[in-house]
Amino acid sequence: MTEALRAAARVIDAADSLVVMGHIGPDGDALGSMLAISGAAAKQGKEAYATFGEPFVVGKQFRYLDTSTLIPPGKVPDEIDLAVVVDTSVKSRLGNAAAIVEKARQVVVIDHHLSSDEDLGDFRVIDANAGAAAQIVYRLLVELRWEIDAEIATALYTGIVTDTGRFQYSSTSPEVHRITAALLEAGVEPPVVGQHVYEEAPFGYLRVAGAVLSRAQIDTELRIVWSLLTRDDLAQEQLRYEDADGLIDLLRLAEESDVACLLREVGEAKYKGSLRSRGRVDVSKIAGQFGGGGHHNAAGFVAEGDVSDILAVISAEVR
Ligand code: 5GP
Ligand code: MN
Repeated sequence: MTEALRAAARVIDAADSLVVMGHIGPDGDALGSMLAISGAAAKQGKEAYATFGEPFVVGKQFRYLDTSTLIPPGKVPDEIDLAVVVDTSVKSRLGNAAAIVEKARQVVVIDHHLSSDEDLGDFRVIDANAGAAAQIVYRLLVELRWEIDAEIATALYTGIVTDTGRFQYSSTSPEVHRITAALLEAGVEPPVVGQHVYEEAPFGYLRVAGAVLSRAQIDTELRIVWSLLTRDDLAQEQLRYEDADGLIDLLRLAEESDVACLLREVGEAKYKGSLRSRGRVDVSKIAGQFGGGGHHNAAGFVAEGDVSDILAVISAEVR
């Protein structure tokens, strides 16, 4: 791990230009990790960009972040020394930004997921015990001796606070808290992050949540709670897909469940699935049945077909 981290730091330090990219539909960790590396590199005088595959939409809740390095994938210049992939090591998760990785002279991967394309990246720093990719990025910036100012610290904090479930998942280690302490010393304002990420939503979100929760079903024998979010739900309240990211956290509250599943309709008979586990079931294995992946307790996939068929696959895995 340390040797891999050192090697990655060396190539990043040597690059004059770099592009950092997270997975499609970036969450707080993907976004925070890419903005932290690209922002810190820009402050070192490097030509540095952050990007991710289309749709190129950043959740409104992250608007407090410094996104000055963020550009759409189509705007990334062709001649770039280094591509850095964060918060995924699965190529298909890069969407149309994968083409940039193919063109880059060298590729660094920084990730904390269980599922991984072994052939992605010339330098791979993968630590499945890290609570967030941002935790590994922090180690990297320390190794580089690059300044972590308040803006960079806020990006890293966003990754850590979201991916540890606000410091409550099993990945919340002493190191997570030590890093967080250093980030607060660098100027992070927790209430600013907390208000934007967790304490605000458009009123329409309440209605959509109501629809999704009223549709929820529970299998008390298999201990699976699940529900559906339709495109129509979102259209009625003029919400975007990204606005519904928090719904799975409402669904998973059902104490009669070990596994929660939210299916979001993304096309004709096409669904994005989010899975959460309380620990007994490895949901990354279930997601793997559909070609998806993630962590033991949080995973996702895209599936085509009927809802009942998708649920049958999930039930068979849990059984
Ligand atoms: P979410 O349900 O919040 O979209 O994702 C939960 C976790 O699973 C995240 O760590 C995310 O990166 C991962 N994940 C979500 N969707 C996919 C997918 O389609 N493929 C893979 N490999 N991982 C996914
Ligand atoms: Mn992550």
